[in-house]
Formats: sequence, C-alpha cells, structure tokens
Amino acid sequence: MNNENDIIKTDVLIIGSGCAGLISALHLPKDKKITVITKRNVERSDSFLAQGGMCMLDDESDYDAYFEDTLKSGHYENDKKSVELMIKNSKELAEELVGLGVRFTRNEDGSFDFTREGGHSKPRILFYKDITGREITEKLWEEAKKRPNIEIVEYKKMVDLLIKDNECFGAVIKDNSERATEEEFVNRDHGKISVVFADYVILATGGIGGLYVNSTNFRNLTGDAVALALIHDIKTKDINYIQVHPTTFFTEEVEDRNFLISESVRGEGAKLLDKNGERFVDELLPRDILTAKILEQMEKDGTKHVWEDLRTIPEEELKSHFPNIVRHCKEKGYDVFKEPIPVVPAQHYYMGGIAVNYNSKTSCDRLYAVGETACNGVHGKNRLASNSLLESMVFAKNAALEISESYKEQRSEITLPDLSLYEDSEKLERIYGEKVLRAIDEADKYDNDENAKLVRSKISRKYNY
Ligand SMILES: Cc1cc2nc3c(=O)[nH]c(=O)nc-3n(C[C@H](O)[C@H](O)[C@H](O)COP(=O)(O)OP(=O)(O)OC[C@H]3O[C@@H](n4cnc5c(N)ncnc54)[C@H](O)[C@@H]3O)c2cc1C
Repeated sequence: MNNENDIIKTDVLIIGSGCAGLISALHLPKDKKITVITKRNVERSDSFLAQGGMCMLDDESDYDAYFEDTLKSGHYENDKKSVELMIKNSKELAEELVGLGVRFTRNEDGSFDFTREGGHSKPRILFYKDITGREITEKLWEEAKKRPNIEIVEYKKMVDLLIKDNECFGAVIKDNSERATEEEFVNRDHGKISVVFADYVILATGGIGGLYVNSTNFRNLTGDAVALALIHDIKTKDINYIQVHPTTFFTEEVEDRNFLISESVRGEGAKLLDKNGERFVDELLPRDILTAKILEQMEKDGTKHVWEDLRTIPEEELKSHFPNIVRHCKEKGYDVFKEPIPVVPAQHYYMGGIAVNYNSKTSCDRLYAVGETACNGVHGKNRLASNSLLESMVFAKNAALEISESYKEQRSEITLPDLSLYEDSEKLERIYGEKVLRAIDEADKYDNDENAKLVRSKISRKYNY
C-alpha cells in the first residue's frame, strides 16, 4: 500500500488478518492483487488465542452425533445446511492445513490424536499442545507472505465502507500506527486517511469483545464491520447472540484481555466463593445459569468479581493438568496453592453478526463477510466448543471460491466521501460501538430467553449510551 497517495486501487481488499481473512487470501486467484489490512499487528487476532482445537469429522459414523452435538449446543436454532457444510468439509480443511505445515498432535501410529471438550459426545477435536490457533494461523500467515500477489498491511483500520446502490466499491482506511510499539514502527503516517478501491471486499474483522469491559477477546476487536453493516443497511442476523464464559481471571488492566479459567478446573473440584469466602453456588451448573448466579452475587456483594478456590484440587494435579493457569495467576500475583483467585464472567464469542449465505456473501453486492463477524447460522444460539476455527475457515474458503469463479471488475464509479468525517478516531469508535450495543439491546426486546437477556444486560460494557 503506497502511503504517499490517498487513493489506492487493489483487486480484493480483505479487512482482518485472522484465520478467516488469511485463508480467503490464499484461495483467491493468484493473478489478482490481494490487500489484507489489519488494525494492529497480525498476531493481535483471536485466531492466535484459540487453545482447545479444531473439530474434524474423522469417521463417517460420527456424522449424526457431531451434527446433533452442534445443534444441541445451539439450542436447535442452527442453520442445518450450514452445519452440514461445516462438518462435511472439515476433513478436507484439516488435510489442507497439514499440507501447509500445521502440526496437529498425533498418536504413535501417525494417526491424528483427538481430544474432547464440553458438549461433545466423543473426542473429535484436533489440537496442537494448547496453542492450536497460533499453530494454524502462523502457517497461513507464512504461506501468505510467500505469495507475491498478497500484501498484508499492519496498523491500518477500516473506518467506513464505500457503498452505492447496494454495491461495495472499497473502504476508507485510517492509519493506526499510533498503536504500534517503537520497534514495530514501519511508517509514520499517524492517522492518515486513505480510500482503497477494490473489485471485492471481504470483511474478516472477528468478534466484538472490545465493546465489553470483561472479555477474553483482544481489545481491538470492536465489531467495526457489524457497525458499518448497520449504518449501511446491510443485513445482520442474531445480533444479540453473545457467548459469555462464567469464569475468567479478573483484571483491571485496560489493555489486557481476560484469561480463561477453564471449565475443567471446576470439573476437578474448584469452588466459587463470595466476598466473605463462603461458597454460594453449584459450580457445575450449565454455563449460562452459573454466569447469572455469579453476576447476581457480585451485585449483592457490591464487588467486581467473585473468588475461585483451586486449593480443593491436589497440588500435583494442578501443576500437571493446568500449568498455564498456575503460571498466569502467578504472573498476576496470585499463588493458586495458597489463595483463591478473582474471577468474573466475560464476553467470549459472538454467534451473531453480518448475515451471509453459504458462500459468505452479504446482502450487499461485491461484499463478503467471513469468520466471527459473519453469521451463517451455523452456531445457532450457542457455539459448540472448537467449531469456530473450523467454521471460520470453511466458509472463508467458500467466499474466495465464489469470488474467483464469478470475478468481474468493478466498472461503476462512486463519489469520494468527505474524509474529514473520519478524523476524530475516539468519536468514531464510540459511535460505532454504541451502534452495535444499541442493536443488541433492541434485539433483546424480542428475545424470550430471560436468562440469556439477564446475563447480557449485566455484562459491563465499554460504552453506556
Ligand atoms: C481465548 C479464546 C480461546 C478460543 N479457543 C478456541 C478454540 O479452542 N477453538 C475454536 O474453534 N475457537 C476458539 N476461539 C474462537 C476463535 O479463536 C475465533 O472465533 C476465530 O479465531 C475468529 O477468527 P477470525 O479470523 O474471524 O477473527 P480474528 O482472528 O479475531 O481476526 C480479526 C482480525 O480483524 C482485524 N480487525 C478488526 N477490526 C478491524 C478494522 N476496523 N480494520 C482493520 N482490521 C480490523 C483484527 O485486527 C484481526 O486481524 C477462542 C477464542 C478466544 C478469545
């Protein structure tokens, strides 16, 4: 991207460099110029955080059970065709990733080793140590860097889409390098605004955790694409379907995200305590009910968190089974062998988003949405563990394949917007954030799930409009 110019032309513009954005780039035609922009550095995407793994249908006889587990988790509100496409394409995707050098943990005979998580009736999750997301995304990134037609530009954020008559022409991009560390500084175009024209745009901006005070997501994921969809009348779906995790490590550090204190810690016997050190709840209640109980207790106690006591788990088991949790708490000043740790429910995943069809096409022409920012209904009301990396990549590939097959240059023209409208970043962020949060509240008025609504209303937000 040439920073001397305010107007840039590329063939396909991808917003976001997580697993969804990167795999789309790799499946677009090699003779087209692909520009991937990302708000911060490449590693600051949730794709790098996924620990558990990625589901794969290994044995055809597991199809019905995997399908049922996904639907049960989604409260049977899932789009069945999306679920079918995701499951049926999982093996091909896994093989492709292996071809790119991704190391999934294997058994001695060389076959894949599968693990299991909550909601799964059998082990069907591929993993690599507890850094599966990093392993996958790094390999996609390495491959993208080898392709001469793909340019990845860090510290550039999309601040608007160029849309006329329900057709997308590109995006308005603002330099975000003021957020870069000294060592990362590659340019000094702080705040510079550019217009990027493209034949197609793919939105791959991830989740909305940055709109919440407590979230496991990186703070730069603020649902910008969803806000722009609302502003430009692009269809959204299940906009209020947010997954909340009941127990994450409480932190007051603004730039920090909440670290997950895995459900299996409670499964192994950890207890939840109120401000007086008294147990107040059955720790093994379903996630949503437990979250509501914790939030209720915090309100009663007037606290920002409750406590989780891991001393009920034998020391050796804690060390061998949960080394990362032990280490993280220690770094934050807590010795889990001697004292309880502060935990709080936090926003974790976004099932809703920009409505897309099975090829990830939005309601706007030449505009696609993939990954966590898109909603093809695959997760229904609640995501089954380890289905999101898979879903993100399967449907991001579909977007790229459809664009490749039906590629047509954009020949129409659009009047340039007034770029001074994008100068005040803080104001824009607030407007966009409030737009999404307001839409969630609006949708909640028509949702009959009282417990889910209660939880959503009590999870603190960054903006209170
Ligand atoms: C702690 C944690 C653990 C998880 N574990 C698992 C797991 O084990 N298995 C699983 O399947 N899923 C897991 N998930 C979910 C999964 O990681 C995500 O759903 C998935 O990685 C989303 O990929 P993505 O490409 O859509 O978004 P991301 O990887 O989040 O990438 C979004 C990109 O968009 C960029 N961006 C955002 N806004 C803008 C803008 N305005 N302009 C330019 N760029 C922008 C960001 O900088 C980033 O590059 C986990 C999530 C978390 C938070």
